[in-house]
Amino acid sequence: MIRWLDLPKEAMEDVFKPPKEPCQVECIHCGNVYSSSEIVWVESGDGGFWRCPIGDCGGAGFGFDIYPIDPAEAAKYGIHSFSFDEDDEDDEEYHEDYDDQEDEAP
Ligand SMILES: [Zn+2]
Repeated sequence: MIRWLDLPKEAMEDVFKPPKEPCQVECIHCGNVYSSSEIVWVESGDGGFWRCPIGDCGGAGFGFDIYPIDPAEAAKYGIHSFSFDEDDEDDEEYHEDYDDQEDEAP
C-alpha cells in the first residue's frame, strides 16, 4: 500500500505516478503482473522516479513502462495500453488464436 503522505512533492507531481485506486499492471520490461500500489518511488539526484518493484528491473513509470492490463482501466488514465501501432512483425503472437471462433458467425 502506498503511503501517499510520506511521499515527496516530486513523487506526487510526477506524471507517471500510479493511480490512487490500485489496479493490476504489467511491466513491459520484466513481464511481471502486480498491483499498481506496489510500484515504488525511487529518489535520485534530481528528484526521483516511479519504478517497477521487481528485483533490479529497469521498468519505470506508470503508463510508461508499466501499464494496466485492463484496457478499460488504461483508458481511464489516457493510456492506450499495448497498442503497438508500429508495423512490427513480432505482433503475430498477440492474435494467433483469434480465428478460432469466427466460424459460428451467421
Ligand atoms: Zn519490471
